[in-house]
Amino acid sequence: MKAVFIDAPHTMRVGEASLPVAGAGEVVVRNQAVGICAGDLYIYQGKNPYARLPAVGGHEIAGRVSEIGAGVTGISVGDFVVVEPFIGCGACYACRVGKPNCCKSLRIIGAHLPGGFAEYVAAPARNIHHVPHGLSPVWASFAEPVAIGVQACRRGQVAADDFVLVLGAGPIGLALIEVARARGARVLCTDISPDRLAIAATLGAETLPSDEHLPPAILAMTDGDGMPVVIEATGNPRAMESTVDLVASGGRIVIVGLVKNGTMIQFPGLDFTRKEMTIVGSRASTGCFPEALSLLASGHIRYPRVAVEHSLWDAPAMFAEMDAQPGKYHKVVLTP
Ligand SMILES: [Zn+2]
Ligand SMILES: [Zn+2]
Repeated sequence: MKAVFIDAPHTMRVGEASLPVAGAGEVVVRNQAVGICAGDLYIYQGKNPYARLPAVGGHEIAGRVSEIGAGVTGISVGDFVVVEPFIGCGACYACRVGKPNCCKSLRIIGAHLPGGFAEYVAAPARNIHHVPHGLSPVWASFAEPVAIGVQACRRGQVAADDFVLVLGAGPIGLALIEVARARGARVLCTDISPDRLAIAATLGAETLPSDEHLPPAILAMTDGDGMPVVIEATGNPRAMESTVDLVASGGRIVIVGLVKNGTMIQFPGLDFTRKEMTIVGSRASTGCFPEALSLLASGHIRYPRVAVEHSLWDAPAMFAEMDAQPGKYHKVVLTP
Protein backbone atom coordinates (compact mmCIF):
# COMPACT_ATOMS: atom_id res chain seq x y z
CA MET A 1 0.00 0.00 0.00
CA LYS A 2 0.99 3.63 -0.31
CA ALA A 3 1.98 5.50 2.84
CA VAL A 4 3.47 8.88 3.74
CA PHE A 5 6.76 8.48 5.62
CA ILE A 6 8.67 10.96 7.73
CA ASP A 7 12.23 9.66 7.22
CA ALA A 8 14.02 12.40 9.12
CA PRO A 9 13.08 15.87 10.40
CA HIS A 10 11.70 17.91 7.47
CA THR A 11 12.00 14.91 5.14
CA MET A 12 8.70 13.40 4.03
CA ARG A 13 7.93 11.13 1.08
CA VAL A 14 5.17 8.96 -0.36
CA GLY A 15 6.38 5.34 -0.50
CA GLU A 16 5.37 1.69 -0.29
CA ALA A 17 4.55 0.04 3.05
CA SER A 18 3.42 -3.50 3.76
CA LEU A 19 -0.34 -3.86 4.12
CA PRO A 20 -1.31 -4.14 7.81
CA VAL A 21 -2.91 -7.42 8.86
CA ALA A 22 -5.64 -7.62 11.52
CA GLY A 23 -4.25 -9.66 14.43
CA ALA A 24 -6.46 -11.18 17.12
CA GLY A 25 -8.68 -8.47 18.59
CA GLU A 26 -7.74 -6.00 15.86
CA VAL A 27 -9.28 -4.50 12.76
CA VAL A 28 -7.83 -2.88 9.66
CA VAL A 29 -9.39 0.37 8.44
CA ARG A 30 -9.20 1.80 4.91
CA ASN A 31 -8.54 5.47 5.65
CA GLN A 32 -10.89 8.06 4.14
CA ALA A 33 -9.98 11.26 6.00
CA VAL A 34 -7.10 11.98 8.38
CA GLY A 35 -6.59 15.34 10.08
CA ILE A 36 -3.20 17.01 10.44
CA CYS A 37 -2.64 17.88 14.08
CA ALA A 38 0.07 19.98 15.76
CA GLY A 39 1.42 16.64 17.01
CA ASP A 40 2.02 15.51 13.41
CA LEU A 41 3.92 18.73 12.72
CA TYR A 42 6.05 18.08 15.82
CA ILE A 43 7.04 14.68 14.41
CA TYR A 44 7.84 16.34 11.07
CA GLN A 45 9.91 19.03 12.81
CA GLY A 46 11.76 16.43 14.91
CA LYS A 47 10.22 17.75 18.15
CA ASN A 48 8.27 14.64 19.17
CA PRO A 49 10.50 12.58 21.48
CA TYR A 50 8.31 9.45 21.09
CA ALA A 51 8.26 9.07 17.33
CA ARG A 52 10.77 6.58 15.93
CA LEU A 53 11.74 7.56 12.38
CA PRO A 54 10.86 6.57 9.73
CA ALA A 55 7.32 7.09 11.00
CA VAL A 56 3.83 7.21 9.49
CA GLY A 57 1.87 9.92 11.34
CA GLY A 58 -1.85 10.66 11.43
CA HIS A 59 -4.03 9.98 14.49
CA GLU A 60 -7.30 11.76 13.54
CA ILE A 61 -8.59 8.89 11.44
CA ALA A 62 -11.96 8.16 9.81
CA GLY A 63 -12.52 5.32 7.36
CA ARG A 64 -14.16 2.01 6.52
CA VAL A 65 -13.35 -1.31 8.19
CA SER A 66 -11.64 -3.55 5.61
CA GLU A 67 -10.58 -6.57 7.70
CA ILE A 68 -11.52 -8.06 11.07
CA GLY A 69 -9.20 -10.14 13.26
CA ALA A 70 -10.07 -13.22 15.31
CA GLY A 71 -12.36 -12.67 18.28
CA VAL A 72 -13.70 -9.28 17.20
CA THR A 73 -17.45 -8.85 17.65
CA GLY A 74 -19.82 -5.98 16.91
CA ILE A 75 -17.80 -4.66 13.94
CA SER A 76 -18.31 -5.64 10.29
CA VAL A 77 -16.33 -5.11 7.11
CA GLY A 78 -17.56 -1.87 5.52
CA ASP A 79 -18.54 -0.16 8.80
CA PHE A 80 -17.86 3.60 8.85
CA VAL A 81 -15.68 4.24 11.89
CA VAL A 82 -13.18 6.49 13.62
CA VAL A 83 -10.05 5.21 15.34
CA GLU A 84 -9.26 6.27 18.92
CA PRO A 85 -5.47 6.43 18.77
CA PHE A 86 -4.44 5.90 22.43
CA ILE A 87 -3.45 2.45 23.67
CA GLY A 88 -2.74 2.03 27.41
CA CYS A 89 -0.86 -0.94 28.88
CA GLY A 90 -3.81 -1.88 31.11
CA ALA A 91 -1.52 -2.69 34.06
CA CYS A 92 0.07 0.52 35.40
CA TYR A 93 -1.52 2.70 38.10
CA ALA A 94 -2.99 5.21 35.61
CA CYS A 95 -4.58 2.42 33.57
CA ARG A 96 -5.93 0.72 36.69
CA VAL A 97 -7.68 3.93 37.83
CA GLY A 98 -9.28 4.48 34.40
CA LYS A 99 -6.75 6.94 32.98
CA PRO A 100 -5.15 5.01 30.10
CA ASN A 101 -4.65 8.44 28.42
CA CYS A 102 -1.76 9.00 30.83
CA CYS A 103 -0.49 5.41 30.89
CA LYS A 104 3.22 5.32 31.72
CA SER A 105 3.78 3.19 28.59
CA LEU A 106 1.18 4.90 26.41
CA ARG A 107 1.34 4.05 22.70
CA ILE A 108 -0.33 6.30 20.16
CA ILE A 109 -1.37 5.22 16.68
CA GLY A 110 0.32 7.78 14.45
CA ALA A 111 3.23 8.43 16.83
CA HIS A 112 4.57 5.20 18.36
CA LEU A 113 2.63 2.97 15.93
CA PRO A 114 1.96 3.42 12.18
CA GLY A 115 -0.81 5.99 11.72
CA GLY A 116 -3.43 7.10 9.25
CA PHE A 117 -1.26 8.83 6.64
CA ALA A 118 -1.49 5.63 4.55
CA GLU A 119 -4.11 3.68 2.64
CA TYR A 120 -4.79 1.38 5.62
CA VAL A 121 -4.20 1.36 9.37
CA ALA A 122 -4.49 -1.40 12.00
CA ALA A 123 -6.06 -0.73 15.42
CA PRO A 124 -7.37 -2.69 18.41
CA ALA A 125 -11.12 -3.31 18.03
CA ARG A 126 -11.78 -1.57 21.37
CA ASN A 127 -10.34 1.62 19.82
CA ILE A 128 -12.95 1.61 17.06
CA HIS A 129 -16.10 3.78 17.27
CA HIS A 130 -18.98 3.72 14.81
CA VAL A 131 -19.76 7.06 13.18
CA PRO A 132 -23.37 8.28 13.56
CA HIS A 133 -25.44 8.78 10.45
CA GLY A 134 -25.00 12.01 8.51
CA LEU A 135 -21.32 12.77 9.16
CA SER A 136 -18.83 12.87 6.29
CA PRO A 137 -15.38 11.28 6.69
CA VAL A 138 -13.78 14.75 6.98
CA TRP A 139 -16.16 15.78 9.79
CA ALA A 140 -15.86 12.38 11.51
CA SER A 141 -12.06 12.81 11.58
CA PHE A 142 -12.68 15.67 14.06
CA ALA A 143 -13.80 13.16 16.72
CA GLU A 144 -10.26 13.10 18.16
CA PRO A 145 -9.76 16.88 18.66
CA VAL A 146 -13.39 17.31 19.81
CA ALA A 147 -12.79 14.49 22.34
CA ILE A 148 -9.91 16.60 23.74
CA GLY A 149 -12.46 19.37 24.31
CA VAL A 150 -14.86 16.92 25.98
CA GLN A 151 -12.08 15.63 28.25
CA ALA A 152 -11.07 19.18 29.30
CA CYS A 153 -14.69 20.16 30.01
CA ARG A 154 -15.15 17.00 32.08
CA ARG A 155 -11.91 17.73 33.98
CA GLY A 156 -13.13 21.29 34.63
CA GLN A 157 -16.69 20.11 35.45
CA VAL A 158 -18.05 22.69 33.01
CA ALA A 159 -21.82 22.90 33.42
CA ALA A 160 -24.74 25.09 32.36
CA ASP A 161 -24.49 28.64 33.75
CA ASP A 162 -20.69 28.41 34.11
CA PHE A 163 -18.68 31.29 32.69
CA VAL A 164 -15.64 29.79 30.97
CA LEU A 165 -12.52 31.58 29.75
CA VAL A 166 -10.72 29.76 26.93
CA LEU A 167 -7.12 30.94 26.39
CA GLY A 168 -6.22 30.28 22.76
CA ALA A 169 -8.44 29.99 19.66
CA GLY A 170 -6.45 27.34 17.80
CA PRO A 171 -8.17 24.10 16.72
CA ILE A 172 -8.36 22.82 20.32
CA GLY A 173 -9.55 26.19 21.63
CA LEU A 174 -12.35 26.16 19.04
CA ALA A 175 -13.34 22.63 20.10
CA LEU A 176 -13.36 23.80 23.75
CA ILE A 177 -15.62 26.76 22.94
CA GLU A 178 -18.16 24.53 21.24
CA VAL A 179 -18.14 21.72 23.80
CA ALA A 180 -18.52 24.23 26.66
CA ARG A 181 -21.35 26.01 24.83
CA ALA A 182 -23.07 22.67 24.14
CA ARG A 183 -23.08 22.22 27.93
CA GLY A 184 -24.86 25.54 28.32
CA ALA A 185 -21.87 27.57 29.49
CA ARG A 186 -21.14 31.18 28.57
CA VAL A 187 -17.71 31.33 26.91
CA LEU A 188 -15.15 34.11 26.63
CA CYS A 189 -12.18 33.43 24.36
CA THR A 190 -8.89 35.31 24.12
CA ASP A 191 -6.04 35.05 21.61
CA ILE A 192 -3.31 37.28 20.16
CA SER A 193 -4.61 36.66 16.61
CA PRO A 194 -7.60 38.78 15.46
CA ASP A 195 -8.23 36.19 12.68
CA ARG A 196 -8.62 33.39 15.17
CA LEU A 197 -10.80 35.52 17.45
CA ALA A 198 -13.08 36.28 14.51
CA ILE A 199 -13.63 32.53 14.03
CA ALA A 200 -14.24 32.07 17.77
CA ALA A 201 -16.89 34.81 17.60
CA THR A 202 -18.75 33.00 14.78
CA LEU A 203 -19.00 29.99 17.12
CA GLY A 204 -20.78 32.05 19.77
CA ALA A 205 -17.86 32.98 22.03
CA GLU A 206 -17.41 36.48 23.39
CA THR A 207 -13.89 37.56 22.49
CA LEU A 208 -11.16 39.80 23.87
CA PRO A 209 -7.62 40.26 22.60
CA SER A 210 -4.90 38.78 24.78
CA ASP A 211 -3.12 41.90 26.05
CA GLU A 212 -2.62 43.94 29.20
CA HIS A 213 -6.28 45.06 29.15
CA LEU A 214 -7.55 41.49 29.57
CA PRO A 215 -7.28 41.10 33.38
CA PRO A 216 -9.13 44.37 34.22
CA ALA A 217 -11.74 43.62 31.51
CA ILE A 218 -12.40 40.22 33.07
CA LEU A 219 -12.74 41.68 36.55
CA ALA A 220 -15.21 44.22 35.14
CA MET A 221 -17.25 41.45 33.48
CA THR A 222 -17.44 39.38 36.66
CA ASP A 223 -18.17 41.98 39.39
CA GLY A 224 -14.54 41.75 40.45
CA ASP A 225 -14.67 37.96 40.96
CA GLY A 226 -12.56 36.63 38.08
CA MET A 227 -13.51 33.64 35.93
CA PRO A 228 -15.18 30.57 37.45
CA VAL A 229 -13.40 28.33 34.91
CA VAL A 230 -10.19 29.05 32.98
CA ILE A 231 -9.04 26.58 30.30
CA GLU A 232 -5.48 27.07 28.99
CA ALA A 233 -5.10 25.95 25.37
CA THR A 234 -2.16 27.99 24.08
CA GLY A 235 0.83 26.12 25.50
CA ASN A 236 2.40 29.52 26.15
CA PRO A 237 4.12 29.53 29.57
CA ARG A 238 3.14 33.15 30.30
CA ALA A 239 -0.51 32.42 29.44
CA MET A 240 -0.35 29.38 31.71
CA GLU A 241 0.93 31.53 34.59
CA SER A 242 -1.83 34.10 33.99
CA THR A 243 -4.57 31.51 34.69
CA VAL A 244 -4.01 31.92 38.45
CA ASP A 245 -4.62 35.68 38.22
CA LEU A 246 -7.67 35.30 35.98
CA VAL A 247 -9.52 32.58 37.91
CA ALA A 248 -12.06 33.44 40.63
CA SER A 249 -11.59 32.31 44.22
CA GLY A 250 -13.05 28.80 44.37
CA GLY A 251 -12.71 28.43 40.59
CA ARG A 252 -11.18 25.76 38.38
CA ILE A 253 -8.18 25.92 36.05
CA VAL A 254 -7.73 23.28 33.35
CA ILE A 255 -4.36 23.05 31.61
CA VAL A 256 -4.64 21.53 28.12
CA GLY A 257 -1.83 23.35 26.27
CA LEU A 258 1.53 21.60 26.08
CA VAL A 259 4.79 23.30 26.99
CA LYS A 260 8.21 22.03 25.98
CA ASN A 261 9.79 19.46 28.26
CA GLY A 262 11.68 21.25 31.05
CA THR A 263 9.66 24.51 30.92
CA MET A 264 9.00 25.84 34.43
CA ILE A 265 5.74 27.60 35.35
CA GLN A 266 5.59 29.96 38.34
CA PHE A 267 2.46 30.61 40.41
CA PRO A 268 2.20 32.81 43.53
CA GLY A 269 2.12 30.04 46.15
CA LEU A 270 -0.26 31.85 48.51
CA ASP A 271 -2.99 31.85 45.82
CA PHE A 272 -3.41 28.07 46.16
CA THR A 273 -4.88 28.50 49.61
CA ARG A 274 -6.09 32.11 49.37
CA LYS A 275 -8.23 31.27 46.34
CA GLU A 276 -8.75 27.58 47.13
CA MET A 277 -8.62 27.05 43.40
CA THR A 278 -8.55 23.69 41.66
CA ILE A 279 -5.85 23.20 39.05
CA VAL A 280 -6.11 20.10 36.87
CA GLY A 281 -4.29 18.87 33.81
CA SER A 282 -6.11 17.36 30.87
CA ARG A 283 -4.30 15.01 28.50
CA ALA A 284 -5.78 13.90 25.17
CA SER A 285 -8.95 12.02 26.14
CA THR A 286 -10.30 8.80 27.52
CA GLY A 287 -13.83 7.54 27.05
CA CYS A 288 -14.79 10.77 25.25
CA PHE A 289 -15.15 9.59 21.63
CA PRO A 290 -18.86 8.65 21.87
CA GLU A 291 -19.77 12.10 23.27
CA ALA A 292 -17.54 13.82 20.68
CA LEU A 293 -19.22 11.93 17.83
CA SER A 294 -22.71 12.69 19.08
CA LEU A 295 -21.85 16.40 19.49
CA LEU A 296 -20.58 16.41 15.89
CA ALA A 297 -23.67 14.59 14.61
CA SER A 298 -26.10 16.82 16.54
CA GLY A 299 -24.72 20.00 14.95
CA HIS A 300 -23.32 21.43 18.23
CA ILE A 301 -19.83 21.38 16.72
CA ARG A 302 -19.45 23.63 13.69
CA TYR A 303 -15.76 24.58 13.60
CA PRO A 304 -14.74 21.73 11.22
CA ARG A 305 -16.03 24.02 8.47
CA VAL A 306 -12.74 25.99 8.80
CA ALA A 307 -10.86 22.90 7.61
CA VAL A 308 -9.41 22.68 4.12
CA GLU A 309 -9.17 19.32 2.37
CA HIS A 310 -6.10 18.16 0.46
CA SER A 311 -4.93 14.93 -1.12
CA LEU A 312 -3.02 12.69 1.27
CA TRP A 313 -0.45 12.15 -1.48
CA ASP A 314 0.33 15.90 -1.45
CA ALA A 315 1.30 15.63 2.22
CA PRO A 316 5.04 16.32 1.67
CA ALA A 317 4.26 19.69 0.03
CA MET A 318 1.51 20.43 2.58
CA PHE A 319 3.73 19.77 5.60
CA ALA A 320 6.54 21.90 4.12
CA GLU A 321 4.05 24.74 3.62
CA MET A 322 2.53 24.43 7.11
CA ASP A 323 6.04 24.36 8.62
CA ALA A 324 7.15 27.45 6.69
CA GLN A 325 3.93 29.43 7.21
CA PRO A 326 2.43 28.54 10.60
CA GLY A 327 -1.06 29.98 10.90
CA LYS A 328 -1.76 29.93 7.15
CA TYR A 329 -4.25 27.09 7.63
CA HIS A 330 -6.51 26.74 10.66
CA LYS A 331 -6.88 23.03 10.01
CA VAL A 332 -6.02 20.63 7.16
CA VAL A 333 -7.63 17.23 6.59
CA LEU A 334 -6.00 14.80 4.13
CA THR A 335 -8.00 12.38 1.99
CA PRO A 336 -6.44 9.52 -0.02
ZN1 LIG B 1 -4.73 15.47 17.21
ZN1 LIG C 1 -0.75 1.74 31.57
